[in-house]
This record gives sequence, C-alpha cells and structure tokens, in this order.
Amino acid sequence: MVDPSHVEIPFVSTWKEGMNLCKGLTFANKIEVQRVLIICALNENKHFMISRSTTKKLYAKCVDESCKWYVCAVIKPNLHGLWMVTVYVGPYTCIPIGVRNDGRMMTCNFIASDILKKLCEDHTTPIKHLRSMIESKYQSHKSSYYKVCDAKQKTIRKMFGN
Ligand SMILES: [Zn+2]
Repeated sequence: MVDPSHVEIPFVSTWKEGMNLCKGLTFANKIEVQRVLIICALNENKHFMISRSTTKKLYAKCVDESCKWYVCAVIKPNLHGLWMVTVYVGPYTCIPIGVRNDGRMMTCNFIASDILKKLCEDHTTPIKHLRSMIESKYQSHKSSYYKVCDAKQKTIRKMFGN
C-alpha cells in the first residue's frame, strides 16, 4: 500500500461536496477550482469551457453562447495564494443538452484524483472497476475507457515516483 497523503494535496477549500458555486468560495489551487467546476457541471449535466487560464486567473463559460453561466476565479496573494471565486453568474440558463451523463466534462486529471485512493489500496484495480466507481459517484456519468486508462497510468507513475 502507498500512503495517499504523499500524493494528494493536503490543503482544504471552503467548498464542500454538494455545495453550489458562489462568489467568495476559496480553493487551495487552480486545479481544485477546475475540479469543482467539473463536479458542478456533472451534477447539472452541463458543459462548460475554460475561456481563459493564466497563472493568476481562470475564466469559465458555458459552451452555449446564449447561456449566462460564467465564473471567474483569481489567485489571492494576501490569502496565502488561495484561489477565490470573484464572479459567479449562474445557474445555467441554456436548455438541457440532449445526451445525458456522457461524462465529457471529466478530464484525465479529474479522474486521476478520484481513483487515487483506490489505486493506493490496490494498484492492480481493473479499468472496468474504476469506471463503475466513477459512474456511481457522479450521477451515472460515463467516463471514457481511454481517459480512465490514461489516468490510471499517470496515477501509478506518481505513486511510485517516476
Ligand atoms: Zn449553459
């Protein structure tokens, strides 16, 4: 077994599972902001895109041009480098997308953070099992075989430090 605390980022955010986005929420880093944007999009079965991403700012908007949903998060040097949501325009106003639970919003990094614990317990966990784990965690959203496979490889490389 590999201790996950060596791989995971040990900071906490003010956002908690089940919360909606709002102005003033803080996050340990930009990766965490992106992870939460994805979780919220999966909950609502919506697609967003990162319209701008720098080392200091992150802008996300809905893929639907007519939709009002918009988020801006910036780094706060006076808050120990935490990231904070400074603009939140929501909820999504677009019509529901036809395909439900296609899992398109899940990135490889996103999947990697979710399978880390399981892989630390057993790094031989099959892709099939990892996919069904993700599916039951995120409202039946299907993750692609390719992405999970990629995420598993990356996670294992990180765990064993090469
Ligand atoms: Zn929208």
